Amino acid sequence: NYRFAKRMAGVGPSATLQMGRRAKELAQQGADVIDLSVGEPDFATPGFITKAAKQAIDAGLTSFYTPTLGLDELRRAIANNHQTIDPLSRKNVGVATGAKLVLYALMQILISDGEKVVIPAPYWVSYSQQVLLCQGNVFAVYPQNPAMKLTTAELLELDFMPKAVIINNPTNPTGALYTKDELQELIDWAAVNDVFLIVDEIYGNLVYNGAKFTSVLELSGVKDSQLIVVDGVSKTYSMTGWRIGWAIADEQIIVKMGEVLDHMTSNPAAVSQYAALAAINSDNTAAKGMREIFESRLNYSLNALEDIPGLTMAEKPQGAFYCFLRVDPAILARKKLTCTNELVLDLLDKKHVALAAGEGFDLPGYVRLSYAKDEKILQAAFARIKEYLTND
Ligand code: PLP
Repeated sequence: NYRFAKRMAGVGPSATLQMGRRAKELAQQGADVIDLSVGEPDFATPGFITKAAKQAIDAGLTSFYTPTLGLDELRRAIANNHQTIDPLSRKNVGVATGAKLVLYALMQILISDGEKVVIPAPYWVSYSQQVLLCQGNVFAVYPQNPAMKLTTAELLELDFMPKAVIINNPTNPTGALYTKDELQELIDWAAVNDVFLIVDEIYGNLVYNGAKFTSVLELSGVKDSQLIVVDGVSKTYSMTGWRIGWAIADEQIIVKMGEVLDHMTSNPAAVSQYAALAAINSDNTAAKGMREIFESRLNYSLNALEDIPGLTMAEKPQGAFYCFLRVDPAILARKKLTCTNELVLDLLDKKHVALAAGEGFDLPGYVRLSYAKDEKILQAAFARIKEYLTND
């Protein structure tokens, strides 16, 4: 019975990472597990990126701290990589150990005790947990439009002004993509009301079937603005293990973020920064190739799902690499399960397929399926899921 800090109340492990750990344990015991619960591309990091990292090691670029907010050339490359309404300089970019840490550092500099952060549900599990770790209050809103996207309608109904709003475009777990007009409305609302608008664009390069991703940087400058963009290399370049992410914002916000990171991690690993630099400076052939494969997997999955009774989607996903599926309550009742949390455990147990339960995204009654797997693996998974859902 240790006396842990008050801020740990209400904080738990990441539901998706926990499911992934369970799936791995089962696989280690010899079970033929298909893990569709985690959010990582299944491709190897492209060779030209790993080569750049090896060269950095061989050149001895590892025995010093880089600037906390990242190598100047990396910050500059990130700034140059964006089509923006105003030119960005490296001072508008702060690099850290993954977009997750970027978000956490932002919460640290923005949120004081009891301040409210609005997040549209379903949302990526770490947003709310990070707010809690900063002793802020999470205010989840549940948009009623089919794609469950935040609109100003939900914001105008609030009877308080939040300190910050977080959206994810395209969205994990739904794959929903915000249009230019929807983003513009949110930006205008945040500016008028002096609310920080954090837009997590980590899946921005992964949009499909002709859909067009608009970065908020194409709609608003960041100078003197409340707008903060979060991005990283994890999903675009299949670099989850390298842990490089960044924020783009007004210079004052980036400087503050650096002050927190000075005492947390100092710089992100130098080798990873050189790898990320190669990725960002590349012509994106490798990234485009991976995007195309995700697109065909999405279309394959949409087709296969039509043949599985009991799982439905209100809106076709347009980005990221997930399907967020509503589970027919009659299935839960028939299987004598009380919630989708129990359902994903039962499915893993009986059919060795791991999905993430909607509970982890603040929307019970749903499951999230990651299609970041080879089509053959997806085919086997869909067959098992169908069998599970149709039999007792
Ligand atoms: N934001 C969202 C919505 C994510 O799904 C993830 C990873 O799952 C991240 C951020 C974290 O990315 P990183 O690997 O850069 O920490």
